[in-house]
Amino acid sequence: MGNIIDGKVIAEKIKDEVKKEIEQLKSKGIIPKLVSVSVGENPASIVYMNQQKKNCEKMGIDYEIMKLQEKTDENGIIEAIKKLNEDEKVTGIILQLPLPKGVDTRKVQSKIAPEKDVEGVNPFNMGWIVYGRSTIAPCTALAVKEIIEHLGINLYGKEVVMVGHSDIVGKPVALLLVDKFATVTICHIGTSDAGKLKEHVERAEILIVAVGKANLIPGEWIKEGAIVIDVGINRVGDKIVGDVEFEKAKEKASWITPVPGGVGVITTSILLRNTVLLAKLQKGI
Ligand code: NDP
Repeated sequence: MGNIIDGKVIAEKIKDEVKKEIEQLKSKGIIPKLVSVSVGENPASIVYMNQQKKNCEKMGIDYEIMKLQEKTDENGIIEAIKKLNEDEKVTGIILQLPLPKGVDTRKVQSKIAPEKDVEGVNPFNMGWIVYGRSTIAPCTALAVKEIIEHLGINLYGKEVVMVGHSDIVGKPVALLLVDKFATVTICHIGTSDAGKLKEHVERAEILIVAVGKANLIPGEWIKEGAIVIDVGINRVGDKIVGDVEFEKAKEKASWITPVPGGVGVITTSILLRNTVLLAKLQKGI
């Protein structure tokens, strides 16, 4: 028991494919350009953007940070996004969260041109997931799907339990997997408050957890032989841990993602893949 899924291996495979596609684009004189819009000073966003910049530049994607002042209001942010939508050189747009208080995040995200929405947050792109015809989806949700495909799991009739129902992770994951005919149960705070989380987790053949609470899922709840995908990222002292009690869970799971080194690194490479995919579509390739 306890095979650990090495996110880096999956991420490297994706990056190799992306690199080849970028070379093809470059031979046609096309260079993808990603612009990250950030409002105010958020230390976590700065770290994240610097990492994105490094990753993009390594791959040959232009990366620019558009810094807006903290006092920029909703209309100001929307105006900045509209300019990027119209700029032909810009092929992808990222909106760093959180936005300042009083700004309607979903409304602003809906203004990102769907064809430049590399994070799959525009409701237009979200909607196509419901139809089972998505071109683009949120990077973390695609990372989860990628792991299942990498393991060669046939989802048909499988008991999948998704803990967490956020718009960006839990809901799109559930929709992407239901399309493969998995039986998907979505759990959230209501499930926990009703004292029913354990009974759902215990019957999961594939358990995916995206909550943001360290050790929410005790290892002993894991079904023997289950696949465990832990999306959570939590800082505990000087350590980063997931939502699942890893050491104990690994004794029962057939496959389990570590934190760090699991879903997160794959998510980063999916962002690069989404960026190249949209750049290609914009140029009719
Ligand atoms: P959100 O806070 O948006 O969503 C958390 C979800 O967990 C909500 O559906 C919430 O329900 C549910 N929840 C909260 N408490 C419980 C509980 N006790 N039992 C069951 N469900 C509960 O978070 P995100 O989806 O954005 O992120 C989740 C985690 O994944 C975070 O740790 C985040 O850092 C990490 N993350 C990791 C990424 C990666 O690439 N590895 C990328 C994105 C996120 P309700 O809304 O009803 O309270």
